[in-house]
Amino acid sequence: MARYAMVIDTKKCVGCGDCVVACKTENQTPEGFHRDWIAQQTHGAFPDLTLEIRSERCNHCENPPCVPVCPTGASHIDEYSNITLVHHDKCIGCKACIAACPYDARYVHPDGYVDKCTFCIHRVKQGKKPACVSVCPTHCMYFGDLEDPTSDASRLLKSRKWKVIAPAAGTKPQVYYLI
Ligand code: SF4
Ligand code: SF4
Ligand code: SF4
Repeated sequence: MARYAMVIDTKKCVGCGDCVVACKTENQTPEGFHRDWIAQQTHGAFPDLTLEIRSERCNHCENPPCVPVCPTGASHIDEYSNITLVHHDKCIGCKACIAACPYDARYVHPDGYVDKCTFCIHRVKQGKKPACVSVCPTHCMYFGDLEDPTSDASRLLKSRKWKVIAPAAGTKPQVYYLI
């Protein structure tokens, strides 16, 4: 099984939002909803302030609390990869997974099921990069298999300092931020 991860360089993200537009177009997310978004965080104390900008989405957690709470098995980990997905036809819209996710990564689609980032698994299976990664004008987003030591994602995590969002939640996120 592959262990797919996204590695995002916070030093290169300019917050242009092209990743958000690409996801919306690729995945036809309904008006007013999105699978990814731009977060901004200030670090330091005045006058030594720095602004971190990053593109966020479902973290495809290795220990995803959204999966065991799902009463129907709709929320699951894909057997082809470690990607956390939702079977739309099995989802009853109970929102247990939304309550369990510490990252606010899911939304209720107007058609009644819960939706979120899929790591663009339909593109990955065709050998393509996720839509958001493929359009980034500063090339700050990388996608790859952490089981492959030669992947860009593996090499960057070995050579650069990184963090994940809210590690204390114990979810083991698979979206890493280079810092
Ligand atoms: Fe589940 Fe939320 Fe983790 Fe995504 S970020 S795998 S929705 S707990
Ligand atoms: Fe499962 Fe759908 Fe309920 Fe989420 S909203 S826990 S995916 S049935
Ligand atoms: Fe959207 Fe695909 Fe990027 Fe996830 S990986 S945020 S589904 S474009």
